[in-house]
Amino acid sequence: MENQIEKVIEIKNVKKVYRMGSEKIYAVDDVSFEILKGEFCCLLGTSGSGKSTLLNLMAGIEKISSGQIIIKGKKIHKMNENSLARFRQRYLGFVFQSYNLMSSMTALENVEFPLVFKRVRARKRKQLAKDMLIKVGLGSRMSHKPKEMSGGQQQRVGIARAFVAKPEIVFADEPTGNLDTKTAMEVMNLIKGIAKEYNQTIVMVTHDPRLANFADRIIHILDGKIQSIETRDTKKAMDVNEETAIAETNLESANDVANADESNESKAKIEPETLTTADPLNVDNSEVKLVENATDSLKSD
Ligand code: ADP
Ligand code: MG
Repeated sequence: MENQIEKVIEIKNVKKVYRMGSEKIYAVDDVSFEILKGEFCCLLGTSGSGKSTLLNLMAGIEKISSGQIIIKGKKIHKMNENSLARFRQRYLGFVFQSYNLMSSMTALENVEFPLVFKRVRARKRKQLAKDMLIKVGLGSRMSHKPKEMSGGQQQRVGIARAFVAKPEIVFADEPTGNLDTKTAMEVMNLIKGIAKEYNQTIVMVTHDPRLANFADRIIHILDGKIQSIETRDTKKAMDVNEETAIAETNLESANDVANADESNESKAKIEPETLTTADPLNVDNSEVKLVENATDSLKSD
């Protein structure tokens, strides 16, 4: 069973219709496809083609108008909000274009965050978050807050946060959209490298064909419909510089371990008891604000 090809995501005749007054917008128009475990899948299309809507439907952030979305054998379109929140905590990670880090928290606290919801104990949480930050080459930036980091560094924190709980599936909507080309390539190599290491499934949205080259499979989207599905040679799809990039990251990590500043370690206590009702998915900003306030008050204690 383990070694068989496993369909991790099944999309069946999915439609999403928005009503704008008397007009209907078919943002996703009868789309069907499957994604296999460990696959790096890219939804590629121009702006307005329906990529984000499709990704949001897959993550259960938006409700489908019709069809079925089955993830790990579960019909997520049938789940209520609580079950969905639990399902996301357990199986899904998210990387956002605008990073969505919590401004009042350090890099370490941001990465610890998903583990709080998983009720991982403080000591273990810190260790896992540190390990992950080292992995993304930020061992020496653990106590920096988002505004004290570059865009590329912030997205590395975003990646560390998305991957720290070892989710089976990571959704990424234009994860390099705010980054320059060189940084974008580094970030892509990082995402791909970690995902391949742990056999995680990636679903990434982009409008940029160069970034789609990192994928094992490219689903071309136009006007809410699948235009074509392109299966790529995984070996060729790997960036030529990937091995060098990973080697460099590892080297950087090693230095980071040596330089890691322990004395500045965050004093914030994020306790699971106070936060279990919130969803780690930062879609609803009011939820984020609530958690930020809670954390701030903990800090000032
Ligand atoms: P992409 O991510 O490919 O740029 P989107 O999925 O954001 O595209 O949007 C697809 C289409 O659906 C667009 O025409 C957009 O205007 C429309 N759309 C997206 N969200 C909404 C919404 N909440 N209400 C109405 N129309 C929407
Ligand atoms: Mg979009």
